[in-house]
Amino acid sequence: MPVNFYDFSALHDDKLISEIKEKFDQIFKENSFIEGSFNDEFEKKFALLQGNKNCLLVANGTDALEISLQAIDIQPGDKVGVPGITFYATAEAVINKGATPVFIDVNPESGLLCPDSLKRICEKHQLKAVIPVHIYGHPAPIKEIEEICDPLGIKIIEDGAQSQGGNYLHGGPIGSSKNLITYSFYPTKNLGAFGDAGAILTQDSKLAEKIKSIRNHGRSPNGYCLIGRNSRCDSFQAAVLLSKLKYINGQNQQRKKIAQWYFENLQDLNLKLPPKEMIENSAWHLFPIILDNRDHIKTELAKKEIGTGLYPGKAVGDEEPLKNYPGERENSEKFAANNLCLPINPFISEEQVKQLATCLRELIN
Ligand SMILES: *Cc1c(COP(=O)(O)O)cnc(C)c1O
Repeated sequence: MPVNFYDFSALHDDKLISEIKEKFDQIFKENSFIEGSFNDEFEKKFALLQGNKNCLLVANGTDALEISLQAIDIQPGDKVGVPGITFYATAEAVINKGATPVFIDVNPESGLLCPDSLKRICEKHQLKAVIPVHIYGHPAPIKEIEEICDPLGIKIIEDGAQSQGGNYLHGGPIGSSKNLITYSFYPTKNLGAFGDAGAILTQDSKLAEKIKSIRNHGRSPNGYCLIGRNSRCDSFQAAVLLSKLKYINGQNQQRKKIAQWYFENLQDLNLKLPPKEMIENSAWHLFPIILDNRDHIKTELAKKEIGTGLYPGKAVGDEEPLKNYPGERENSEKFAANNLCLPINPFISEEQVKQLATCLRELIN
């Protein structure tokens, strides 16, 4: 029985598609193609889901990061901390704003930003901001990061691209903190559009106004007030997101159940599972395990039509265009070299998990 890494056919069933088509018809009737009423409705509901006051839809997750950096006044030459385990775009956004990424090492168990590494980096570099990433849907240790950053005046932007619907370890939905948080709705994320979209959440209504202006060429109700850009979200993507939003809690529950099945079925194998405290809180975007001989095992599983992924295949600071930027990389490099993400889309059955576990057992032991 094949195990698909993603399962868009199951995700986008007839019921959902007809709901989305109805909303599309409404857009055709109203001719409001950009920032229409679905955008407003989605922004309200998504802010509520994540425990925040303001949600601003933008064109994609990378723009959400760049716009957030502009909103907190990051200037060319400023240094911004980025964890070594993330998607390339987290560092790319920093460079595109003219700033310098400084790589912070990660916790070797979770792949999340390591507060001790951040402390050491802060002694050497004067950071203006840091971007902890809720990678795999796991909550980054935001309380500890705030304790380090707040006294030094270092601003925090959380990259929540993989964490829709997850919870902090200290409680409350990821996205309910005082920090800016960015989202991507790339189709493979827990909440995905039918194309590109992203969002920024903030508790600060002044920052929300500024972000609203940046995403629409610096416009404000009284004319142009700053140099912005075009990062509007179209009404079609908002309609898709709005239709899919009501299913995310149920789907995340299912992801959690699959994670539990993996814990039950893989615990006696010679590999490292994610930290146990993640079970309850993670949004389980991905299920990364750490093991020897990763590439061989990936190939063997592929022969049995079991889809796996390398997220990331390399520490982001080791990518060619990023390798000369400063920072700490050791644990990130080890983590990236040995991690393999198992399928955890919400349509995987317990039987499939058991079958995958049997394959892994034969390959490892
Ligand atoms: C997907 C992702 C992004 C980028 O989002 P896009 O919508 O593709 O621009 C940024 N950070 C992380 C951690 C991501 O997973």
